[in-house]
Amino acid sequence: MTAPRFVIFSSYGNDSCALIQWAHEWRLEGVAVVYSETGWATADWAERVLWMEIWAESLGFATYRTASIGFPDLAREKKGFPTQQFQWCSFRLKIEPGMRWLKEHDPERRAVCLVGVRRAEAKNATDDRASFPGFLAKSGNHGDRCMIAPFATFDEDARNAFLRRAGIEVLPHRSRECRCINSNRADLKLFGEQDIVAIEQLEAEVGKTMYRPHRHMGASGIREVIRWANSLRGKYEPPDEPAPVCDSMWCEQ
Ligand code: SF4
Repeated sequence: MTAPRFVIFSSYGNDSCALIQWAHEWRLEGVAVVYSETGWATADWAERVLWMEIWAESLGFATYRTASIGFPDLAREKKGFPTQQFQWCSFRLKIEPGMRWLKEHDPERRAVCLVGVRRAEAKNATDDRASFPGFLAKSGNHGDRCMIAPFATFDEDARNAFLRRAGIEVLPHRSRECRCINSNRADLKLFGEQDIVAIEQLEAEVGKTMYRPHRHMGASGIREVIRWANSLRGKYEPPDEPAPVCDSMWCEQ
């Protein structure tokens, strides 16, 4: 197998699909498109990944998937869920497997890594994405390989133009390769019954809730969190806790 000249780590969401089209329009050769298998994609995302891999291959690119422990086993190993503060999942599910893939497929570190990050996506001025570089000669996150972010200064319209030319519909949501602990109200509303059941089972096994009740008006457990997500703002009422009862058995309850 020849080493790739360009590597795109792709979740097959809007940004990375536009980036694949960008690479095609620039007639790049020796492109590898790599998907991080988290073992925790939403039920419908697996099918999208298959279609997008077929599309990327039709452009002459090679597709790969990285292997990881998978989110469920990671949660079992840690006996809990990652939080915004302790987000150990991204390293174990994406960064470390991606580094391993690079080491195996590009041991001489000659490949150029392409990323679809846009500064316009930054939540605020302190967000790392706000000052994301368009080019790095040595990117630590990519094993000191060269990194180019062609969309760094793009707004959504500029990105969407690539999707249009590729004939790919713009998704109204983020990529769903992972049922993310950072899911917001809109993301949660998109979880289907299969996703809810998977989270519910893992919560039961691990004995903890995946989404913190204090961030969701007291909603505890995925079904309540979904109820919170679907409620009008400020209108969610968590179910009453069962009232404590006198255990003397002498009085009526
Ligand atoms: S997408 Fe969310 S849950 Fe998945 S690895 Fe990243 S932060 Fe963790």
